[in-house]
Amino acid sequence: MPAWHDRPMRRLLAPAIVLALTTACAPAPVRNPMATWVPSKNFDQRGAVLIVLHATEQGSVQKSLDTLRGDNGRGPVSAHYLIGRDGHIYQLVAESARAWHAGGGSWGTITDLNDASIGIELDNDGHADYTDVQFDALVRLLADVCARRHIPRSQVIGHADLAPTRKTDPGAQFPWQRLHAAGFGRWPEDAPADPPPGFDPWIAMAAIGYPLKDRVAAVRAFHRHFRGRDDGDSPDAAFDDDDLRILYALARPKN
Ligand SMILES: [Zn+2]
Repeated sequence: MPAWHDRPMRRLLAPAIVLALTTACAPAPVRNPMATWVPSKNFDQRGAVLIVLHATEQGSVQKSLDTLRGDNGRGPVSAHYLIGRDGHIYQLVAESARAWHAGGGSWGTITDLNDASIGIELDNDGHADYTDVQFDALVRLLADVCARRHIPRSQVIGHADLAPTRKTDPGAQFPWQRLHAAGFGRWPEDAPADPPPGFDPWIAMAAIGYPLKDRVAAVRAFHRHFRGRDDGDSPDAAFDDDDLRILYALARPKN
């Protein structure tokens, strides 16, 4: 009968050893004590469906590391990644965890952006151009994250896109067209066509994902993203003919 007695012992020991090896670097998985744990091998990670790009709007990587890892005067904030102007990539929060980077806002039907996204901060004071090595590091990171987490490459947006009344980052100087040429985010085709009569730009904006509670703020966010133009706080921001062509190109169904 020794085999009969040994087996449960081995069953107990093996998880204990695994636990001892893993507790130093990761918390034990949360299981519901009211159920019997009968693990299946058939699963993968879930969570993020979107990637949100930010500018730190601070003076240095070290200052941003302090902000994103500390208590912060206006409440704690974080992001999954921070990319320095020298191209160094820092990871601050595990991708499976919910970082506090997006705050209030919405994108399409998504209303809890922290829940649904990976946040990437780019070291930038809010005015400077992004460096080539920083941009290249971002592209490498996006390729890696999108592939591993099965996030569509088009699903890369800016903080200001989801929160146009509160945010302006990553700013009008962020090279969205270049990012699209590298395979990420959305950008209209070359020489987009005139929209047909009756085209409603607001339906197109909503279809892309923009929140429309404040339509002028949404136009300003659109201009930062797709026109490289900063309207500041202008209450008069409005669509022009080029905007309408871009909106039509972005929102019309693809064949
Ligand atoms: Zn931001």
